[in-house]
Amino acid sequence: MNTSHPFYLHFQKVYGDRWPALFEALQKKEQQVARKNLLAVSEDEGKVWKKFVEKSELPNCYWVPENESVQTQRNSDELLDIYVMDPASVMVARALDVHDGDRVLDMCAAPGGKSLVLIEALSNSGEIFCNDLSPERRERLKKVIQQYVPRTIRDRVWVTGKDGVQFGLKEAESFDRVLLDAPCSGERHILENTEAQEQWSPRRTEHLASRQYSLLAAALLAVKPGGRIVYSTCSISPDENDGVIKKLLKKKKDAVRLVQADLGVGGERTEFGVAYMPDTCGFGPLYFSIIEKT
Ligand code: SAM
Repeated sequence: MNTSHPFYLHFQKVYGDRWPALFEALQKKEQQVARKNLLAVSEDEGKVWKKFVEKSELPNCYWVPENESVQTQRNSDELLDIYVMDPASVMVARALDVHDGDRVLDMCAAPGGKSLVLIEALSNSGEIFCNDLSPERRERLKKVIQQYVPRTIRDRVWVTGKDGVQFGLKEAESFDRVLLDAPCSGERHILENTEAQEQWSPRRTEHLASRQYSLLAAALLAVKPGGRIVYSTCSISPDENDGVIKKLLKKKKDAVRLVQADLGVGGERTEFGVAYMPDTCGFGPLYFSIIEKT
């Protein structure tokens, strides 16, 4: 992409002096972790745990060095032992603070990396609805669940295909926890794809931000009083991140409370949440904010 492209100029205005480094970092391969599947204890304590570094702030995640590949193995129940993912995704899913017995909604779940983290927290009891509107992506989600979750736990994992907005009215106040990992601009993907670059415009971001707000308003209806919502995106656009939360805080101020999130590894504070930005931490982008229904 050349530096006169509207995308480049738009984010240059947003990020100022930071933009050239962020632009470059978005085009580099991101740091990933090999997350140990605690639901599939393997007989052979796999090589990854011995070879790679685990940080105390992010237990059971092993930082994969550049140019290293990770071999997943199946245990005797045919379950895979490792899910390779962005460390920020693990931190976002853990920020939902799911406990045994909770009724959880993962509103936009496919392909399912974050769902696996949530399911792990429900290993003894509770249930989770992993929802995604896209039939193709839902097939991938089902496969991931099959590959990583033991049959006994799978009985408490439901895969559904609704428009997330429907949960607001049809399932009001019925979940302890809701993860809304919203459809977003995904600028990392845009920079990899010339067709997406041609289609990009600031108007698209505005349109997405209003869809994201509708999904968030539905999440707020669906969660029980005292329950928690984590809103996240993989966008660098402030309109799709803090902008959506700002609108919620303004419109529903008597019904919501912002919860201060831990920065975890490499996070930076924004007005209403935390962002992991590739120019500073080497992974992401990922933004999240924690909301409690009062
Ligand atoms: N949470 C997933 C993970 O960690 O693997 C990634 C989710 S991705 C950012 C957003 C997902 O939202 C896409 O899979 C897309 O199909 C789904 N989606 C888009 N619009 C939706 C809607 N209105 N209701 C439910 N899902 C939707």
